[in-house]
Amino acid sequence: MTARHAIVIGAGAGGLAAGIDLARSGFRVTMLERAATPGGKMHMREVDDRAVDGGPTVLTMRSIFEQLFSDAGARLSDRLTLTQSPVIARHAWSHGGTLDLYPDLTRSRQCIEAFAGSEDAAGFERFYSQSARIHRALAETFMAAPKPNPMTLVGRVLRQHHPSSLIAARPSPNLWQALGQFFSDERLRQLFARYATYVGSSPLSAPATLMLIAHVELEGVWLVEGGMHRLAKALATLGQELGIDLHLNTHVNEVLVKKGRAAGVRLEDGTVLPADVVVFNGDTDALATGQLGSEVMRAVKPRPRQKRALSALTWCIKGNSSGFELDHHNVFFESNYPSEFSTIFSEREVPTKPTVYLCAQDRGPNGSLNGSERLLMLVNAPADGDTNTWSEDKVARTRDNALAVLERCGLNLIFRDSNCVSTTPTDWHGRFPGSGGSLYGGASHGIWSSFTRPGARSRLKGLYLSGGSVHPGPGVPMAALSGRLAASAVLRDIG
Ligand SMILES: Cc1cc2nc3c(=O)[nH]c(=O)nc-3n(C[C@H](O)[C@H](O)[C@H](O)COP(=O)(O)OP(=O)(O)OC[C@H]3O[C@@H](n4cnc5c(N)ncnc54)[C@H](O)[C@@H]3O)c2cc1C
Repeated sequence: MTARHAIVIGAGAGGLAAGIDLARSGFRVTMLERAATPGGKMHMREVDDRAVDGGPTVLTMRSIFEQLFSDAGARLSDRLTLTQSPVIARHAWSHGGTLDLYPDLTRSRQCIEAFAGSEDAAGFERFYSQSARIHRALAETFMAAPKPNPMTLVGRVLRQHHPSSLIAARPSPNLWQALGQFFSDERLRQLFARYATYVGSSPLSAPATLMLIAHVELEGVWLVEGGMHRLAKALATLGQELGIDLHLNTHVNEVLVKKGRAAGVRLEDGTVLPADVVVFNGDTDALATGQLGSEVMRAVKPRPRQKRALSALTWCIKGNSSGFELDHHNVFFESNYPSEFSTIFSEREVPTKPTVYLCAQDRGPNGSLNGSERLLMLVNAPADGDTNTWSEDKVARTRDNALAVLERCGLNLIFRDSNCVSTTPTDWHGRFPGSGGSLYGGASHGIWSSFTRPGARSRLKGLYLSGGSVHPGPGVPMAALSGRLAASAVLRDIG
């Protein structure tokens, strides 16, 4: 019997995971990636001959990758060196205070007590047990399972857990308000509200269930030796060992439809490749807006611009820092957090005093500082990359505003302009077609938002979906899970 042929469009985390599962299940897999390297958002930029991670830097849920590798007969630890970060993140406020969070509740509690007093330390304990409860209720029933509707989710939770878990799992608005029940110090509310931005959303509109991210981080934030882009490389290598035929620099122009089902693809150069199934790993809005042909537009619902998740402005830097002891993950806050989100989501601008994330990639347990250091600086931005252009002046102004936040927190960065490589929402949009620069698909705004992402099966037979814009949502581990869910849907349908 000849093997069934699956084409995977895109070698991001979701595409790679789908390809690996299909290849080990006996499919012939062709993977078509428009970029020059696999990994999608997991990528690095060369800055003065040094590789700086330009995408994700916070790796959680290690077990998802361990399982993916072991199901394919390999061991993650043979391919990558992962070290648990002893500090989850270092936080600083321009109006005063620094606070480290640890993957150790007792230690974090003590720090919070010293930072904000005993009431908030008790609130912190309550917050973490609530976060663990939500995680327990949703990990297997929502995150690792096919897209549910609210009723099927209730059924799954009741089958697997005590009925009281339903209270933890219920989608309640909104994260910012919910945090007020645990913390009186606004800075702590701000710190934990930031989890909404991990899925590209505003804490003022995102459901409080996102608290579960606190538990996920407590289980471990991992540092990948050599950088996160090595994870992409390890996944691609595993896929190729299983027989995936990976073509880089290969843009797919069209998904072909025959007799009402996806039947292959047409490449930019006109080459036609037939297939039994197609798995799409790009932003689903590329399908909805006709960028893969008019026949597949109906495969998913279009996403209005206002419903896009956050984009970002990032700078990959080689430079020197002084005045503030950086850890690997650092977050610098200004006051008035809510205004940041109204500026981004309503005024569609980047705030002049943004929250700044800084990943100091040579710091951490195995880091070695050797003169200058590699940094990724990130501020959130509206996903208007398809309608707004970013002039050099505007990028420079935004960068200076971010540097000013760092300075107010005591940190000075010094670097040459030539050692600072920026990426704007317009650049992201160029790299991820159909996204408008959104890095996380649709925003998780409103209590039902988790149910509105497309699932693994599109509305077009034979066309499956994986990636951060698909259930269970964005983030490297989630996107990998979506790929696994797409592969298992294929196997169930035609395998
Ligand atoms: C700056 C930044 C920071 C982030 N920080 C974190 C973090 O710390 N932790 C975390 O877990 N997540 C983080 N994320 C989010 C995370 O990176 C993504 O959710 C995840 O990597 C998305 O994977 P994906 O499967 O959706 O594929 P993507 O990474 O979106 O890749 C899709 C691939 O499809 C290709 N493609 C699209 N259309 C076509 C076509 N027509 N033909 C051929 N190829 C095509 C693209 O070139 C791309 O390579 C961050 C993202 C960014 C950008």
